[in-house]
Amino acid sequence: MSDDEVLYCINHPNVETRLRCSKCGNPICPKCAVQTPVGFRCPQCVRSQQAIFYTATPLDYGVATVVGLVISTVAAFILGQVGIFLVIILGPVAGGVIAEVVRWAIRRRRGRWIWLVVSSCIAVGGLLSLILSALLFSPTSLLSLIIYVALAIGTAYARLR
Ligand SMILES: [Zn+2]
Ligand SMILES: [Zn+2]
Repeated sequence: MSDDEVLYCINHPNVETRLRCSKCGNPICPKCAVQTPVGFRCPQCVRSQQAIFYTATPLDYGVATVVGLVISTVAAFILGQVGIFLVIILGPVAGGVIAEVVRWAIRRRRGRWIWLVVSSCIAVGGLLSLILSALLFSPTSLLSLIIYVALAIGTAYARLR
């Protein structure tokens, strides 16, 4: 490619540019170019790369929601009844276990929003455990429950992001 060759961005046909996508070679203007570790890429190539990286199917999201909710409710029910000291130790453990079980359930496929699904499940599981303990007449420490939910979400987020 000679230096004075004029290219036009494939997304903006009126914009002159000298940049090309490092993958497909299409001309792209600086506005479209996405900087990656392997050079500038066009938005289309970036998107298809991510589509390969994120392999979770809609069914996986369904499975993650159901599995996440069930174990989150059980974990919250148990941890809502222990002392704060134990919750501080066990909260992150529970969050890690929930994250791993969900990952196993969806066969380790990656999903961009799985962390959000699991975090929501942990929060909703905390609420469901309150109903469960009311039904079972079992006393719950609200403070333990809140600490558990916060710690578990932090851990699950870190594992799944
Ligand atoms: Zn490209
Ligand atoms: Zn452009």
